[in-house]
Amino acid sequence: MTELAKESSTVNHGLISQPEFIPDQPGYYHTTVMDLSWGALISVAQKFDTVVLLDQPQSEWSHWKCFQATFKLMQKLEELDQATVFRTNKNVKKLEYWSNLVFKENKSFCIYPWINYHQKGKNLHLCSRSSIPVAAADTVQSWTTDKNYNRVRTKMLQGEQLPDHCSFCYDQYEKQGIESYRQFETMDWVAKLDLDTVDDLDKIQHPHFYEIHTGNNCNIKCRGCTPAFSAPIGREIKKFNIITPSFKETVSVSAIDKINIDTLHEKTSVYFQGGEPTIMPEVLNFLKQCIEKNKTDFFLTMATNGVKFSDNFLETISHFSNTNFSFSLDGYKRVNDYWRSGSSWNKVIDNLKLLQSQGHAISINTVPGIYNVTNLHQLFEFLDQELPFTTVYIQLNWWPWQSALNHPLKDLVIESMQKCMQTSIYHSNGKSCKSGIDSIYAHYTNDPKCNLKDLKDFFDYNDQLDRVRGTKLADYIPELELARNYIK
Ligand code: SF4
Repeated sequence: MTELAKESSTVNHGLISQPEFIPDQPGYYHTTVMDLSWGALISVAQKFDTVVLLDQPQSEWSHWKCFQATFKLMQKLEELDQATVFRTNKNVKKLEYWSNLVFKENKSFCIYPWINYHQKGKNLHLCSRSSIPVAAADTVQSWTTDKNYNRVRTKMLQGEQLPDHCSFCYDQYEKQGIESYRQFETMDWVAKLDLDTVDDLDKIQHPHFYEIHTGNNCNIKCRGCTPAFSAPIGREIKKFNIITPSFKETVSVSAIDKINIDTLHEKTSVYFQGGEPTIMPEVLNFLKQCIEKNKTDFFLTMATNGVKFSDNFLETISHFSNTNFSFSLDGYKRVNDYWRSGSSWNKVIDNLKLLQSQGHAISINTVPGIYNVTNLHQLFEFLDQELPFTTVYIQLNWWPWQSALNHPLKDLVIESMQKCMQTSIYHSNGKSCKSGIDSIYAHYTNDPKCNLKDLKDFFDYNDQLDRVRGTKLADYIPELELARNYIK
């Protein structure tokens, strides 16, 4: 940076590390995604004439994620009409190539068939969202030559869409203008694996991503969840004869013992989702086997409700050097505790900070739905204040009776989305954070009609849950109780 400043006969004034920074002298300043959050970088960048990305190879960055996140940030600044210099950099060419591929040229290509081992019952699927199998697990002898996987790979490379496998990404995300798993995960993985072009996919000899659904052992009962993911919900439905909407999923467990521990290394990833993986003996057992085999540098990531971590669990994860815990937070304080029955906001935030203090990375997973779509800004404002560097992932609730897109009080939703857009966390480099909020906002500003049958289904089901749990919606989310007037 100092050299660049000299070349322009000016000076480098040094590092910017405060989000409120205002430049007061001509010349160069520098900063990074490690020094300021994404949202802060966007707002600071807009106070400058031009933002320059230094042209350095990925190997010279402290982490592939920083390189990739900075490239995406420059793309965002470009979209906001900020003057930028980075397109001529030779080191961004490969990310430009992949970005053009997945966002513009090829609406089918996804990295998962090359890297993701996801078993549901006896079958392998492209990912946890893909509903039909690719092959029976016991027929796949070779990851690189299996004919069923290669058929999918070939079609994707040719740009032929696979709605049987991938309609979730096409319909739930891309058609709504929301960044999909296909797009987000591909961009992450090509940077992680340092792939230049699709020709480099041939170098991948074994699964690099194990997406493991560990079953429905759970310690809470979220109102948006089903017996397939939380056994206590199944027991409650049975005990109290609750009439449910039509849950389609059945319990389907991935085989942890199919993870080839010997092939794990720093560019591979194991992701546990539940249920609640942190309480599952089989997860702990797997982690202990990894410790015994001295395989602790792979990327270990888990979805968690953050309700309780045992000492045994905390001690075990302390051996792993590359972790991320994705905390589910579906609202601020009482909204979260109502939706996520059995959760306690204060305890979850304490646990989140505990893991952070022990060196683990944290992200937030939020599901916009009918419970929180009028108050989501309160969660965003909290995150802005307390956890500004956290990455927020958004997954829209797709149950029709809990949909984020079926609240009758549209002005309240619009107001909440506008407030979300004022926060820094809205710009977080998480999957679908900005695009998810933008799509909800676009939906409600387009004068949508509320589906009253789905709204009635919501109240019918939620009232039964309130009855058996001894709660009252009006005590937690009064504006949602008001929506009942539309079905009277
Ligand atoms: S396109 Fe979407 S649904 Fe298909 S494999 Fe990729 S992430 Fe899964």
